[in-house]
Amino acid sequence: MRSVKTEEITRQIREMCIEANHFLSSDMKEVFDQAVKKEESPLGRQILNQLEENLKIAGEDMIPICQDTGMAVIFIKAGQEVHFEGGSLTDAVNEGVRQGYVDGYLRKSVVRDPIERENTKDNTPAIIHYEIVEGDQVDITVAPKGFGSENMSRVFMLKPADGIEGVKEAILTAVKDAGPNACPPMVVGVGIGGTFEKCALMAKHALTRNLHEISPVPYVRELEKEMLEKINNLGIGPGGLGGRVTAFAVNIETYPTHIAGLPVAVNICCHVNRHVHRVI
Ligand code: SF4
Repeated sequence: MRSVKTEEITRQIREMCIEANHFLSSDMKEVFDQAVKKEESPLGRQILNQLEENLKIAGEDMIPICQDTGMAVIFIKAGQEVHFEGGSLTDAVNEGVRQGYVDGYLRKSVVRDPIERENTKDNTPAIIHYEIVEGDQVDITVAPKGFGSENMSRVFMLKPADGIEGVKEAILTAVKDAGPNACPPMVVGVGIGGTFEKCALMAKHALTRNLHEISPVPYVRELEKEMLEKINNLGIGPGGLGGRVTAFAVNIETYPTHIAGLPVAVNICCHVNRHVHRVI
C-alpha cells in the first residue's frame, strides 16, 4: 500500500487549474499552426492568427486564455494500492480548485443551485469523475470547461437500425446547430455506446485525448477522419465567420451497449480545449 497525503492532491490541483487556464497543451498549439496553413479564407486566417497571439500573451503575461475560465472537470484514476491520508479526497480536490481559482485570479463561474443561481465565489464544486484502477499511482486530469461550447453539446438516443450513418448525422447535426456559438475552431468529443450517462462521459473524456493520438479501432479511426472532413466542409470557419477550419479534431470513444439502443453523445469544446495531466 502506498500512502498519498490529500494535501498533496490539493497542491497539485491548485497548480493544474492555474496552468490549464494559461497554457494549452503542445498538441493544441501544433493544430493551430497547421490550421493557419490550411485555412483558405483570409478572414479565417486573420482570426486564427489573433487566437494564436492571444495564446502567446496569456502564457507570457499570465492572463487567462479566455474570460470564461470554465467549470473545473476533473478525472481521477486512483490506483487500488493507494491509501489517501489526511481527510476526504473530494474535499481535497475542491480545496485545490478553490485555491487555484482564487489565487490565480480566475473567473468564478459556478452557482450553488441551478435555479437560485448564487455564485459560490470560488468556482467550487468541481465535477469529479473517479475511476479505481490497478497500481499505486494517482492519475489526474484537470479540464476546465467553458460553457459557450458546453451549451451546444448533445445526446442522441439512436435506434440500432440507425447504424453508423445515424451516428454521422448526429455528429453533423450537433456541430451545425452549434455554429459560431461554440467559439470555433472546435474539438469535437464523441461517445458512442454505453448508456445515456456513459456516452456523455466518454464524449467529455475524448476531449482530453492528445489530438495526434490515433484510435486503436480501425472503423473509429476512419470515422474520425471522415467526420473531421465533413465538419470542415460545413464552412462555419474560425470564429464562425466562414472558412475551412471549423474543427481541429474529432475524438471518438466507444463502449459496449444494449441490444435495443445506440446512444451517441457529442461534447463540443471551443478552441480553448484545456487539459492538464499529471501522475503522482
Ligand atoms: S466557449 Fe471557450 S472560447 Fe468561448 S467563451 Fe467559453 S471558454 Fe471562451
